Amino acid sequence: MERVYNFSAGPSALPLAVLQEAAADFYDIAGTGKSVMETSHRSQEYAAINQQAQALVKELLGLGDEYKVLLLSGGASLQFAMVPMNLLKPDATADYLVTGSWASKAAKEGKVIGRINIAADTGQDGVYCRVPNQQECKLSANGAYVHLTANNTIFGTQYHSYPQTEAPLVADMSSDIMSRPFDAKRFGLIYAGAQKNLGPAGVTLVVIREDLLQQSNSGLPSMLSYKTHADKDSLYNTPPCFNVYMLGRTLAWVKAQGGLEGMAQRTQRKADLLYQAIDQNPDFFRAPVDRESRSTMNVVFRLPTEDLEKRFVEQGKSAKMIGLKGHRSVGGIRVSIYNGVEPEWVEALVQFMEEFARRA
Ligand SMILES: *Cc1c(COP(=O)(O)O)cnc(C)c1O
Repeated sequence: MERVYNFSAGPSALPLAVLQEAAADFYDIAGTGKSVMETSHRSQEYAAINQQAQALVKELLGLGDEYKVLLLSGGASLQFAMVPMNLLKPDATADYLVTGSWASKAAKEGKVIGRINIAADTGQDGVYCRVPNQQECKLSANGAYVHLTANNTIFGTQYHSYPQTEAPLVADMSSDIMSRPFDAKRFGLIYAGAQKNLGPAGVTLVVIREDLLQQSNSGLPSMLSYKTHADKDSLYNTPPCFNVYMLGRTLAWVKAQGGLEGMAQRTQRKADLLYQAIDQNPDFFRAPVDRESRSTMNVVFRLPTEDLEKRFVEQGKSAKMIGLKGHRSVGGIRVSIYNGVEPEWVEALVQFMEEFARRA
């Protein structure tokens, strides 16, 4: 078996130890004579998998009974709609901080449901190089919530401190959750598609504070109501059982690596290696993102010409390094260094970058 150095933006690399554990369980989980995929979601075995996954989310985020963990389907993209459907009352306004494509999509869906205010927009001619500072956020009085995108997966920006708000903070943390410690209690709701830091695509994590859950709008279709899923412990309909199992195994691995502190050390080491390689050779590599907003998950940079960028991606592939091409809307190079990416892969990539620049 020869595995590649996978720097894909998502679905992305999973820890090999998790894949091996899943492989060992594949035909027979815990001596039951069947796989998770063949197990009833109403069984005791699955109840344990579901409970374990939810408990690990709370443990790693340092949250107690004042929060409810939901494991849903539909991706982060469905949360763009479910958040306003559940949390935005007809006469209220929700604030959105727009820092990139995903944040714009969230705001666009919000507009379909109710009244929203673009409280900040750091885009210039469709390019997003930074997150807003506190003064720039023009928040509504008595806003329903403030929505932000914690890490801008496409342009490579990230909040390193979150704005102070009176209204509940709601965050799309799809591409940086569980990569470092943060004060999760400051948030009313956090959501994340699993396929970057939590497991394979197909399950979506939602963490919601109990008071917001209790006040959430009624009269919604059952599947779109947080209350439905909370009341049934995310077993209202058939959940993506295998994905929930994988999310649980991935979080157990995070815990075994020292939890979010352990992940933060790993993350910082990888990000430092890459940004140092870029900054050390400013004639060749250029990071378009403002220094204070640089992402520790998606490192974006440009080479002197598009032709060189194309060759960089091609030669990288020959050296087993995949997923280096920037998002089609941005171009350039993007290196995604989520939790599953090994620091050794980044060391190899940095060496490749130095050699490529020398040869060019
Ligand atoms: C990948 C990503 C999404 C989209 O997630 P889906 O699960 O495909 O809907 C949304 N927001 C952010 C920040 C992302 O990185």
